Amino acid sequence: MTLEQTLPICIAGTWRLGGGERYATCYPATGEPMAWLNAASLDDVEAAVQGAHQAFLHSGWAQRKPHERATVLYRIAGLIRERAEELAQLQRQDNGKPIGETRALVASAAGTFQFFAAACETLEETITPSRGDFVSMSVYEPMGVVAAITPWNSPIASEAQKVAPALAGGNAVVIKPAEITPLLALQLARICEEAGLPKGLLSVLPGKGSVLGDALTRHPLVKRVSFTGGTRTGKHIAHIAADKMMPVSLELGGKSPTIVLDDADLDHAVAGVLYGIFSSSGEACIAGSRLFVARSLYEPFMARLTAAAAQLRVGDPADERTQMGPLISAAHRESVERYVALGLAEGGRLRLGGERPAGGVFDQGYFYPPTILEGLGNHQQVCQEEIFGPVLVAMPFDNEEALITQANDSLYALAAGIWSRDYKRAWALGRKLQAGTVWINTYKQFSISTPFGGWRDSGLGREKGRLGILQYMEQKSLYWGMNDQPLAWAGLETGQ
Ligand code: NAD
Repeated sequence: MTLEQTLPICIAGTWRLGGGERYATCYPATGEPMAWLNAASLDDVEAAVQGAHQAFLHSGWAQRKPHERATVLYRIAGLIRERAEELAQLQRQDNGKPIGETRALVASAAGTFQFFAAACETLEETITPSRGDFVSMSVYEPMGVVAAITPWNSPIASEAQKVAPALAGGNAVVIKPAEITPLLALQLARICEEAGLPKGLLSVLPGKGSVLGDALTRHPLVKRVSFTGGTRTGKHIAHIAADKMMPVSLELGGKSPTIVLDDADLDHAVAGVLYGIFSSSGEACIAGSRLFVARSLYEPFMARLTAAAAQLRVGDPADERTQMGPLISAAHRESVERYVALGLAEGGRLRLGGERPAGGVFDQGYFYPPTILEGLGNHQQVCQEEIFGPVLVAMPFDNEEALITQANDSLYALAAGIWSRDYKRAWALGRKLQAGTVWINTYKQFSISTPFGGWRDSGLGREKGRLGILQYMEQKSLYWGMNDQPLAWAGLETGQ
C-alpha cells in the first residue's frame, strides 16, 4: 500500500473504488495522511446489500452444516494470527493506539472468531418437553443480511465481535466501519475472502455514518443491525429499527464509577484506577471516569494516584513503552478540552494535567495528558456526560448508602469497579450497582465467553458469550405430530 494509491473497498464480492468522495485516513500521532480511499456511495450501499442478500440466498453458506461454517471461521482466526503484527501496526496508524494495545486487540479478534467457530459447531437445538401427542423442538435459523456498524476506538475487535457470531449464525454481513478508521475492517474482509468465505457474503462500506449507516439501517433487506457507538446515534438507529420491527443490539456510551472502599488494597486500587481511565487515552466506553474514594482515604489515595498518573508515558504509539497515545483527532481533543474547561467553570480544581503537552512529537499529534479533576459533585455536567478522553473526576464519599445513590445516578449504566479486601462487602455492593459489568478488584478485563452490554442509555442487548450467536438467529419452534388418529376436534370417523 502506498500513500498515492486510492484503496479499493469491498462491495458485494468485488474490490473497487467507492463511489463517494476521496478522503484520507490520518495517523493521529502526526496528523499526516496514511491512506487514501473513496467513501462508499448510496449506490454502493444498495449494491452491497443486494449482493449480500444474493449470497445469503444462493451461496449455500446458510445451508452449510455448522461444523463446515466453523471450519471457515477457524481459518479466519488462524489468518488473523498469522498477520497479527502487520494488523497491529496498521491499527496503530489508523487510530493512534499504542502498539501494545493494538496487539491485544488483534489477538482478541482472532480469539473471537475461534470462540464463535466453537459456539457454532457445538450449538444445540433442543427437543422441548412435550405436552401432547407431538414432539416439540426449538431450532434456530439465520436472519439474512446483518449490518455491523462500528466506532473508531477499537477497530478489528469491535468488528470481530459482530461479524464472527453473525457469520457463525449463517448470515451475510455488511460492515460500516467508522469513517476515520476503515483500514482494519477492509483487511478483515481480505482475510475472510482468503479463508474461503463465499464472495458477496461480506462487504465493507467506509464513509459517513449519517449517510451510509442510516441508509443501511433503513434498507428493507437488512434484517438486523448490530451497532456500537454513541448513545445519540444508537437512539436514532433504535427508532428506525422500531419502524421496521427489526431486532437491534446497541452497545453505547458510559460514565462508569470506580469505587475505592476504605479497606482496599491501595497498590491494586491505584493500578486499577489508572488503567481503567487512562489506558486507551480514556477513549473507551467502559472507562472508569467517575472515581469515588472513601473520605478517610481520600487524600493519601489521591496523592498516590496523582503521582502515579504523572509518571504515565504519553507519546509515540510505535514505542513499546508508551502507555498513552494521542487522541483520535483534533476535533475530539478540542471536545475533551471543552469538558475540562467546563469542569473548572463548574467549580472544579485540576489535580493533574489539563494542558496539552508541547514540544517534539506533541506538537504534531493530538496528545492530551492524564487529567484529574476534583472538587465537583456527581450531579455536575462533567460527571454526567461521557468525555471519552483521559479525564478522571474524583470525589470522596462518606457512607455506602450515599455512594450507591451517586454511583447509580447516571443515565449510563455500562460498567463499574469496586476495590475492597472484604469479598462479602464487595459482593453486596456489586449487586446494588446498576451496570452491565461490575469488576471487583480488577478493571477493564474481558473474556469473549462472558456476555457484555449496558443498561439504560448504555445500550440494549448483549454481545459475546456462547449464546451470542443466537443474537443473530431467529428462533423457530417445530411440532411433529405423533398421533395415529386425526385431530379429534374435527370429529372425523377414522378407518373409512
Ligand atoms: P458514533 O455514534 O458517532 O459512530 C459510531 C458508528 O455509527 C460509526 O460507524 C458512524 O459512522 C456510524 N453512524 C453515525 N451516524 C449514524 C447514523 N445516523 N446512522 C447509522 N450509523 C451512524 O460513535 P463514535 O464517535 O464513532 O464512537 C464513540 C462512541 O462509541 C462513544 O460514545 C463510546 O462510548 C461508544 N462505544 C461503545 C462501546 C460499547 O461496547 N458499549 C464500545 C466502543 C465505543
